[in-house]
Amino acid sequence: MTDHYAVFGNPIQHSKSPRIHAEFARQTRQDLTYAALLAPTDGFAECVAAFRAGGGTGANVTVPFKEQAFALSNRRTDRAEAAGAVNTLTFTPAEILGDNTDGAGLVRDLAANLGLDLAGMRILLMGAGGAARGVVLPLLAQAPVRLFIANRTADKALALAGHFGCTGGGYADLPGGGFDLVINATAASLAGDLPPLPDDVFAADALAYDMMYGRDTPFLDFARRRGARTADGLGMLVEQAAEAFQLWRGVRPDTEPVIAALRDG
Ligand code: NDP
Repeated sequence: MTDHYAVFGNPIQHSKSPRIHAEFARQTRQDLTYAALLAPTDGFAECVAAFRAGGGTGANVTVPFKEQAFALSNRRTDRAEAAGAVNTLTFTPAEILGDNTDGAGLVRDLAANLGLDLAGMRILLMGAGGAARGVVLPLLAQAPVRLFIANRTADKALALAGHFGCTGGGYADLPGGGFDLVINATAASLAGDLPPLPDDVFAADALAYDMMYGRDTPFLDFARRRGARTADGLGMLVEQAAEAFQLWRGVRPDTEPVIAALRDG
């Protein structure tokens, strides 16, 4: 019997998730469909209910519905609780299980695809929105020597850092000495903006990681000019999808050919 999945978002037409999950399904011989569904900003819960009533087995959730998906879940994984946001829903007759696979996707991209050993690293995480919140705990689980959260609105970074027991503040509060890994989890790249980083933010051999993908960003350009290595968020996108796929289907797809195919266009 064919199982049905979907990703809900607004906007959603450019989502790569249907292509990624179709490729995973082909690779692992799973019988499923996966659609991109536009939900009105004030009608997310109704759209999910209709999809579930029509036989939907599970769904991914993207901007701007991750907090609403959290509220909609009857049960949540620990990592979803920590993130305060849900990007993966699993429907059973009895409940809606909410999970958050973004952080695991990021860590897997950094460690398995980019070869980083995060233990002992000095990490700067920029942003205090949903994306940042979802990755703090999985990053801390890798035992970095320092995780500093910087945000335009300093109070939000301070609150987030306080919640997770690390340090944070505004960009003017950044500690010196440089970072081995700088992650851009802000929406600045979407607007073609660059957070106000000091010139010496990168330590020797640092990696600059922008969660945005699909085009070059002012942050990655800034990093390149200062000798840092760079990576975009395409690997994270595919890895968070693989994590959801494994949760739903009990089998882990091979992400490498899917990342390569997406890079080829
Ligand atoms: P939110 O709207 O929840 O948060 C936005 C954050 O960006 C806030 O911290 C905000 O600061 C900050 N910000 C916005 N504009 C600027 C600016 N011009 N300069 C400095 N900081 C700015 O967004 P999300 O957290 O959901 O998403 C952030 C990014 O991560 C998006 O680009 C998204 O596409 C990407 N993403 C990628 C994923 C992937 O799989 N690759 C997964 C999830 C997200 P303030 O608090 O001051 O407003």
